Amino acid sequence: MDPRIVIIGAGFGGVAAAAALLEAGFDDVVLLERAPSIGGVWRDNTYPGCACDVPAPLYSYSFAPNPQWTRRFPAHDEILAYLRRTAETLGVASRVRLNADVTAATWTGDRWLVSTRDGTVFEADVLIPAVGQLGNPVLPPIPGTFAGPAVHTARWRDDLPIDGARIGVIGTGASAIQLVPEIAGRAAHITVFQRSAPWTLPRPDRRYGAGRHFAYSRVPALMRLPRAGVWAMTVVTGRAVTGGRLAGAFLRTVSRAQRRLQVRDAQLRAQVTPEEPMGCKRVLFTNNWLPALTRPDVTLVTDKVLETTPSGVRTVDGTVHPCDLLVYATGFAATDFLAGISVTGRDGRPLAREWATGAYAHLGLAVPGFPNLFLVYGPNTNSGNTSVLYFIEHQAAYIVQAVRRLAAGAGPLEVRRSVAAAFDGEVQRRLARSVWTGCQSWYRNAAGRVVTNWPGMAAEYRRRVARLRPSDYRSDG
Ligand code: NAP
Repeated sequence: MDPRIVIIGAGFGGVAAAAALLEAGFDDVVLLERAPSIGGVWRDNTYPGCACDVPAPLYSYSFAPNPQWTRRFPAHDEILAYLRRTAETLGVASRVRLNADVTAATWTGDRWLVSTRDGTVFEADVLIPAVGQLGNPVLPPIPGTFAGPAVHTARWRDDLPIDGARIGVIGTGASAIQLVPEIAGRAAHITVFQRSAPWTLPRPDRRYGAGRHFAYSRVPALMRLPRAGVWAMTVVTGRAVTGGRLAGAFLRTVSRAQRRLQVRDAQLRAQVTPEEPMGCKRVLFTNNWLPALTRPDVTLVTDKVLETTPSGVRTVDGTVHPCDLLVYATGFAATDFLAGISVTGRDGRPLAREWATGAYAHLGLAVPGFPNLFLVYGPNTNSGNTSVLYFIEHQAAYIVQAVRRLAAGAGPLEVRRSVAAAFDGEVQRRLARSVWTGCQSWYRNAAGRVVTNWPGMAAEYRRRVARLRPSDYRSDG
């Protein structure tokens, strides 16, 4: 039997899963993509300065190394072009149905019925949601009457008035720290509203020149060297946030030195000095964020945002900061896994009920009561310190093992509740002791449970998913 496989999403996760399945010889693969083009977050995020803060040699598929990266930290359009090119080359692109917004998926007892907004229903033996964690932007509940244009960073438009405008930017996360330096100088003034100061580290960027392109094209194996180098770097950042004292102390010292060198003004330096433990939110690699804040045409406001007025943003001290354009760099509903898709499993059980206290999945992949469903980049498989593509690739390899079993005649694979509960218990015990409980962030749901992050190092995750253990699953339908 050649299982019918439906993948939801054609970003890095969906493309990796499809590529692995095609490579393994499974041909009945369809990707349902809600947008009009392939690309996930790299299609959605086009704000000035948008780039990857994980070096490209590691933020690329191991099975599709790219000899042509123009720099170590390439911009969003170069990453998007790489993903689309790879999807074409590996035969994935032709299997993508665009504008196919999945609204529901129901297990009928022996297969999945997957419905899209236009009423089309797809039948699948295997369902692979690969919708990412950062696809749904969040606007904070700031009341107000702002009359000018307002935009979320992930909904950037090229016609926004930047030049000569007074721009308010709410948020100081990974998106804001890339955007602000890029538009500073073009705008008449930028007011940055900071709720908490992020930890930063220098971004060791460099251009990749023609010699390197030539060498990598001729001897592709050479590309393993920078990949290994970046991997070694992420081992240090990974150790720092998973409890390694030496690595943590080292990176805090580097961050402090960066602030001292880049921010001479003691008052501003105090404002940009983080109060939360390093790593409880994503540590940000940047060379130009702090210098941008020192500019005379950029103001950092640390008073709490109260509301918007027709002409700007009012903070708790009563000041109205005038703005012509308001930018929400306020992140994503990351803990709301599979938001907008009504998934119903065995015996009519909604996934929303299974995840009532927070999303969880065995190895981030499988949920009890939801046979033949395997998540890519699911709960507790995010890493704040290395490339998520590493996790995604190993998940794809695991899913291939599951599909092989089904193709060989196994009944529907449903992870045993006891196995999933034991895994979740272990993960949550470890997370409870982790740095991520040190502050509120997109890693934690409203109840405080860390639902996005893997508690250990990436290599441990690889070991844990390397071999599908048949005994973890019931296979009796
Ligand atoms: P984010 O990290 O969630 O940051 C949101 C920012 O908005 C935070 O500074 C937050 O403040 C602030 N905020 C939220 N509500 C607010 C309010 N009511 N008033 C004032 N400030 C408010 O979002 P993001 O910057 O878009 O980044 C999300 C993730 O996307 C990143 O962690 C990263 O994984 C990914 N990303 C990656 C890259 C890359 O280079 N690879 C680039 C961009 C994004 P608090 O900190 O106080 O909560």
